[in-house]
Amino acid sequence: MTARIVAGIDLGGTAVNYTFLDERGQFLIDGLCEHPARSTEGPDVCLGQIADGMAMAAERAGVRLADVVAVGLDTPGPASATGVLSRRGSTNFVHPQWAGYDMRTGLERKLGRPVTYLNDGNAAALWGHVSIFGSENRATSISAIIGTGLGGGVITDGKVVVGRNGFGGELGHVLIPFTSIRGIEGLVPSCNCGRTGDLESLCSLTAIRQSLLPHFLRKQPDHPLAKQEIAAAAKLVRGLAEQGDPLCREIFRVQAHALGLFFDEMINVFDPDALIVGGGAVETGPEFRRWFLDEIRIGMPTQRDEQAGIPLHVMPNGDTAGARGAALDAVRVVR
Ligand SMILES: [Zn+2]
Repeated sequence: MTARIVAGIDLGGTAVNYTFLDERGQFLIDGLCEHPARSTEGPDVCLGQIADGMAMAAERAGVRLADVVAVGLDTPGPASATGVLSRRGSTNFVHPQWAGYDMRTGLERKLGRPVTYLNDGNAAALWGHVSIFGSENRATSISAIIGTGLGGGVITDGKVVVGRNGFGGELGHVLIPFTSIRGIEGLVPSCNCGRTGDLESLCSLTAIRQSLLPHFLRKQPDHPLAKQEIAAAAKLVRGLAEQGDPLCREIFRVQAHALGLFFDEMINVFDPDALIVGGGAVETGPEFRRWFLDEIRIGMPTQRDEQAGIPLHVMPNGDTAGARGAALDAVRVVR
């Protein structure tokens, strides 16, 4: 008897992560299932790695490769809605042959199966959405995932908003009224995209390193983190915040309030069924996570009575969210 299995492939700059989804909607791999991406060696080597890793992952999951009928791929951008990487290159795909490379078609040829494409933020958002509402739904959700940058996505009526150029759901570069956040008076938070005061400029690991940690250390130069190199110090902020260090808690409070302002904008645009938060700040102990979610709500302007109780969820299985969302996207091809 043949099964109809869909694979989800999350291609990052350094590693490929795999999952498989069966006909009953069950994921066949629980945690991370990784293989080196070797993306710096260009598309030919990297696509070979993806294929080799998929065979190994299938063995681990007890899946026959012949049963894999479609593949969902997700990668970091910038890429078009159909998976063509930007001609200007990308931080994660630096080999010259990646510029303008048609990732989706290339992988389809390599694997001999239909391949669908989403950017990594949108794939994670789709997983977060389906984990709450199921695969058959007409709900609307907004997902924000805090990492090195700020990724995420918008799902309306059960469908990912990809946009005309593939830039739908680039939530990190949405401007927020940051001057209303207490404690960062005088700070000019700039983002690598050239904007000042967008969500990523305040709510990302990069924001901690470039703006928030230097800002708070200027006010408190005797803090132990002031003695460290800034990039190393930035990575210690979350752990210290969890342990109750006041300066580091302040940094996360500012991040939570930035998210609150952003979600308020989304509530007024979409009137969504749910807000979803993923990434570093919520991959913490339960006490800190609860405090962070409460601070997001505190950071929101007052909502209409009807919208005051809008659910705020934590994205489950954060490290496999991209692969799972990519697999869910590929199910469309099978139907
Ligand atoms: Zn930006």
